[in-house]
Amino acid sequence: MKARQNILVKNPVAVMTGRRGEHARAGGVDLRVADGRIVEMAPGLVPRDGERVIDASRCVVYPGWINTHHHLSQNLLKAVPEGMNEDLQGWLASVPYPRLARFTPELVRTAARLGMAELLLSGATTCADHHYLYHAGGDTSSGDALFEVADEFGMRFVLCRGGALESASSHPGFSRTALQPETLDAMLSDVERLKARYHQSVPDAMRRVVFAPTTPTFSLPPALLAEVSRAARAMGLRLHSHLSETDNYVRFCRERYNCLPVEFVAEHEWLGPDVWFAHLVHLEPSEIRLLAQTGTGIAHCPVSNSRLGSGIAPVPQMAAAGVPVSLGVDGVASNESGSMTGEVHTAWLIHRAAQGASATLAEEAIHWGTAGGAQVLGLGEVGTLAVGQAADLVLYDLGHPRFFGFHDPAIAPVVAGEPVTVRYSLVGGRVVVDDGVIPGLDLERLRAEAFAGVTRLMAQQSD
Ligand SMILES: [Zn+2]
Repeated sequence: MKARQNILVKNPVAVMTGRRGEHARAGGVDLRVADGRIVEMAPGLVPRDGERVIDASRCVVYPGWINTHHHLSQNLLKAVPEGMNEDLQGWLASVPYPRLARFTPELVRTAARLGMAELLLSGATTCADHHYLYHAGGDTSSGDALFEVADEFGMRFVLCRGGALESASSHPGFSRTALQPETLDAMLSDVERLKARYHQSVPDAMRRVVFAPTTPTFSLPPALLAEVSRAARAMGLRLHSHLSETDNYVRFCRERYNCLPVEFVAEHEWLGPDVWFAHLVHLEPSEIRLLAQTGTGIAHCPVSNSRLGSGIAPVPQMAAAGVPVSLGVDGVASNESGSMTGEVHTAWLIHRAAQGASATLAEEAIHWGTAGGAQVLGLGEVGTLAVGQAADLVLYDLGHPRFFGFHDPAIAPVVAGEPVTVRYSLVGGRVVVDDGVIPGLDLERLRAEAFAGVTRLMAQQSD
């Protein structure tokens, strides 16, 4: 882990706080960081002895993005030809699941390095990874590998420990492999092991574990759903999963259980402020009310939903109803990019295309990507820029012609989208991007590792 630095960020062009409405902008302030926290935000701060001064006169400052739904292992499965034009079910069956057992912890490590490098250089500082490469008799150490790579990069990391349980034969991906799902005892004992080794419950945790069977409707029998949620709550862990990603998903739930997916999970104790679901694309108004009443959150993944033709989640309606909204890039095998700036840009645009020009404000999209993420992950001391908060902040350099001419440069990284240049990024006062580069990252070596990994997965595929 890198050392903390005491830092003075001087003269930024603008500061976005991650908060909503009139609190979205901090005005012309400098920021002082000491012992991992923001200790002052005020104009004209004077450097102190031993403090590193960062000239931010070409930069805007944001809280680091909080990515609440990723599958880092998919960084070695971008643009797999047989899945490029498939919907979710066809894509699951042709891209990730046939290769599930072929991912060694070493390949997961390489994929995670690619993903974390891309996240950091897009302005993300926290990643929640939904890792589901588990099966009966398989090596479970890939979860540990993810924590180790997060340590290398200095990212805040939440492992959402996924997987499927006995009788998961209806899962559209799993059922087409020769693999057997885990038993509940095996999954529980690994979650307990991970919790004991890594989990921190404090609101500025660097490491968290979440209980996250891959999907409630397909990955485990209904009888075990409440057992899993009770076990997670007894351990003080949050719950995460996929829900209502496609219209097929809703149809399956109606036909099999005679109810809507959100009603189904409600019956099995899977709603609450300690639960968030990825996607939630197809929702009835009654389901939005149920999510809002229970404080259940969403990881909105607009790029993956577009790429797989799944639809557009009714996120402005959810936000208006009071559902906690966050953003996730989803796996890059159904996105082809793991950039949070790209995701926030798309979240800003897509609802305007569908619902009109005032459907999503830039400030609201920034809130979803920062404070919204902190809320669903229960990390109350990150996601906003304020005195006392952990120093997770990003400086975007506007010194490129594409950022010249802005009347409101504060929102430029979101409304102009990519490419952006992250000049500096801090996680808990540790510099994780320094003058545009990730310290210690050997890009040529990473490129060679990625090439070797892809070659290995392709060769095995054709065996
Ligand atoms: Zn996903």
